Amino acid sequence: MPIDLRSDTVTKPSPAMRQAMADAEVGDDQYGEDPTVRRLEETIAAAFGFPEAVFVPTGIMANHIALRLLVAPGEELLCDADAHIVAHENGGLAAHAGIQTRTLPSLRGLMDPASLAALIRVGDRYTVGTRALEVENTHNRGGGAVYPIGTLREIRALADSFGIGLHVDGARIWNAHVATGVPLADYGAVATTMAVCMSKGLGAPAGSLVLPPPGRAEEARTLRRRLGGSMRQSGILAAGALYALTHNLDRLSQDHENARRIAAALKAAGATVRDPETNIVLVDVDDAPAVAEACSAAGVRVSAFGPKLLRIVTHLDVSPQDCDTAAEVVSTALMQSPERG
Ligand SMILES: *Cc1c(COP(=O)(O)O)cnc(C)c1O
Repeated sequence: MPIDLRSDTVTKPSPAMRQAMADAEVGDDQYGEDPTVRRLEETIAAAFGFPEAVFVPTGIMANHIALRLLVAPGEELLCDADAHIVAHENGGLAAHAGIQTRTLPSLRGLMDPASLAALIRVGDRYTVGTRALEVENTHNRGGGAVYPIGTLREIRALADSFGIGLHVDGARIWNAHVATGVPLADYGAVATTMAVCMSKGLGAPAGSLVLPPPGRAEEARTLRRRLGGSMRQSGILAAGALYALTHNLDRLSQDHENARRIAAALKAAGATVRDPETNIVLVDVDDAPAVAEACSAAGVRVSAFGPKLLRIVTHLDVSPQDCDTAAEVVSTALMQSPERG
């Protein structure tokens, strides 16, 4: 079995999680009759201080629905240039929602409020209007970087001062919460809308939730159906998500520890590693696909996250020992990388 550090999405449901899923009480969720989905939606809404939450199949759909609630076709969304919604969602906001996205460069994906403020356009007959800001916490391409809560509050205040929304892509908000100790409700309080994933570090097999603004959950459910994302006895999936929330949240600190362990070992071996804040380690290399290929041949899977960037992600299916092995394999592959010598 290879040690798979390509993503924290590769985890498989444990026997206990599968049992919880098998035991789930279910109903037809399109009729609002799945008690387990309702319980998950209520639990997540309460955790982030929102009145309602809407269960959807994927994080991309959660982002898409939330942003449609904030930005009409032909209007503008501002976010960082490395955002998941820009880099990894296949242009869905443009293709399906007619949303114009404007991006700004940032360090580790974390935008500076003053730079953002300078870009917001009120909009009039001649000028497109900015209708929402988007932040990603933790930031995937930023190497799992965490937004300081103070910066988030500044960005929310900025959005409020223009009367526009702030969407938080919280696919890995759990990692931010565990790394900083900032309560989930405090992260929820800065968001006009939010998307959270149960299938990243928490380890559920599928499922994300949209947190819509008060009074707009019905619109979110209608959009979900239009996108083909309304499910039926999805309580089976919701049960996995509830199990994940109960059993796999606090242990994310172990993933963070494992990421630091890998980073330290790679650094000691002379690699150019960006210090991980959570569960993602980025390594600057000469030829990422070649290194990833060499690692794979030695039983360790990592991602070529760009031509010269390697991404290593820790998760609940890898042990500290696996991480030590992985660090050794990656170090060896880096030494042997042709461009190095
Ligand atoms: C994984 C991820 C998503 C959603 O991904 P899905 O595969 O659609 O669940 C959204 N945002 C970020 C930052 C992610 O890493």
